[in-house]
Parts: sequence; structure tokens; C-alpha cells
Amino acid sequence: MVTLQDVSAAAERIGDMIRVTPCRSSASLSRLAGGQVWLKCEHLQETGAFKLRGAANAAARLGDVAGVTTASTGNHGRALAHAARQLGLPAVICVSRLVPRNKLDAIKALGAEARVIGASQDEAFEEARRLKRDEGFALIPPFDHPDVIAGQGTLGLEIIDQIPDAATIAVPLSGGGLLAGVALAVKGLRPDIRIVGISMERGAAMAASLTAGHPVAVEEVETLADSLGGGIGLNNRLTFAMCRDLMDRIVLLTEAEIAAGIRHLALEDGETVEGAAAVGAGAIIAGKLRAEDGPLVLILSGGNIDPDRHAAIVRGEA
Ligand SMILES: *Cc1c(COP(=O)(O)O)cnc(C)c1O
Repeated sequence: MVTLQDVSAAAERIGDMIRVTPCRSSASLSRLAGGQVWLKCEHLQETGAFKLRGAANAAARLGDVAGVTTASTGNHGRALAHAARQLGLPAVICVSRLVPRNKLDAIKALGAEARVIGASQDEAFEEARRLKRDEGFALIPPFDHPDVIAGQGTLGLEIIDQIPDAATIAVPLSGGGLLAGVALAVKGLRPDIRIVGISMERGAAMAASLTAGHPVAVEEVETLADSLGGGIGLNNRLTFAMCRDLMDRIVLLTEAEIAAGIRHLALEDGETVEGAAAVGAGAIIAGKLRAEDGPLVLILSGGNIDPDRHAAIVRGEA
């Protein structure tokens, strides 16, 4: 179980490790949504995504460990490497041989070891489990962990502070650590605020699981919202039930709608975000999300996108 008290304790614990990110209004999206729209700029967080909140909280709570490990090469791996360095803990990020050089370099630049092992993500994950079992490392997962969820929840506390009259918060949704934490914090303080989860239409594991009534596996397909891919774990312990109980509505977007969100945020709002972070804007443009009954807050969850890819999308070529 995770509680509002856990989120408040996390905010205190990680206060020196994270940035309070700005929350700014968007005139163009407000026009399209029929009411005030705010952008919570978490793509300006240290390491470029909100994931530092959860990773920092989980790492800061550890007792005597040899170090921390995970098998994520995306935003969670970056965040964990950064948090470990802040805390003076060794970090080993396990990656497969398929991971490109630039991602390895990014992990090393954060002071972590990138351990290249095996030919698949599963084999890399096996090495992380071995480090835990045999070498006293703590394995910090990307979403389904109470300290990670509590850390992500600190984003919800910040939003309530910055936009006290918020009516709806739109949350990019993958494994559900972000939505679970934000919803827990927000509904604990303001039960009237609605939480809308947004995923891509293809390969959304949480959406499929909620429909099935239990965690299911989905086929992974390529998507512009690459940080929203991946499963929720067939043995999901926390985020499935929390999303089921705390989320008011789910919105699913096509690839074209996600691209439109990226493009709009770049051209109209001057914000460079990755696909996962553009789903709120994409949903407004697609007419799937409105702000008629009070201020709507979009979480711009991350900004880690290849610059050439971003430029091509903004030019309308992808
Ligand atoms: C991880 C991530 C998400 C989704 O978070 P979950 O906790 O897995 O639902 C959304 N946006 C970005 C940029 C991410 O890195």
C-alpha cells in the first residue's frame, strides 16, 4: 500500500535532489480546449523526465546496499543513474547488446556502469536480478514499487500548489507509476479533481489490462510515444489496482494525433517534448479532451527525443 503520507514524506526526502518544474499557461491550447490549459513542464526536470522523482525517492530510502541496478535504458535508467550519483551509490544499468552506443554513452556520462549482457532485454533483466541475488544490489523497477509511486506522486503535490483551482489533470500512462502516484496525492487532497490517463492506441498494456479486468500482455509495437511502450507485468502488485480505482477516464491516441501534439507544442508553445509527453496536447487537438468545466493541467512528462527525429516530426515528415 502507498498513502498520501508516503508522498508527503517523499517530497521532503527528495526536495534537494529534484527541481520544482514550472507550470505555465498555453494560450493556443486553451483556445482549442475551450478553457484554461496549463503545461506542467516536467520535461525540464533534471535528466529530462519526471522519473527522477521516483528513482530518487526509492534510492534515498535504501539502507545498506552494494549499489542500485535496473535494466531500463530509457528515462528510468537515466534517472536511477543520476540519483545514485547524487547519493554516492554505485549504479549498474544492465543493457543488451542491441542497445545503441549513444545510449551506453549517456548512461556512462551519468557516472553509472552500463553492463552489456545478453542479446535481449530479458537477458539484461536477468543480470539485474543476479546482481540483487548474489551481490547485494537493490533492483529498482520503473513503476511497480511503493517508493517509486510515492516519488512520482510529488508531482501531484506540486500541481495542486501551482494550480489550486485545477479541475482535471491529464497524465501520460504506461506502467502507471506516474498516474498512480499523482492520482493518490491529488485525490487525497482534492477528491473532486479528475484524472485522465492518456496512452497510444496501439500496444497500450494498461488500457488492455483494465478492459480485461486483470494484467495482460500486449504485443509491443513501434510508437512515437516510445516511453509509453512495454507491459505492466503479469504479476503487477500496485499500479494496476491503483489506476483501476483512481483514474476517471482513459483516452487513446493514434500515431498521427501524437505527432500533432509534438508539432503543436514545438511550434505554438516553444516546448520540445518526446512523444509520451505530447499526448495531452494531441488529445486536445483531436477533440478528445476539453477544459470546459475548469482548468486543465497537462503533464509534459519528458523531453528525451532524438533531435533529428523531433525536427522531422515538426516538419510534418513523420
Ligand atoms: C515512463 C514515462 C511515462 C509513463 O510513466 P508510467 O509510470 O510508466 O506510467 C510517461 N512519459 C515519460 C516521458 C516517461 O518516461
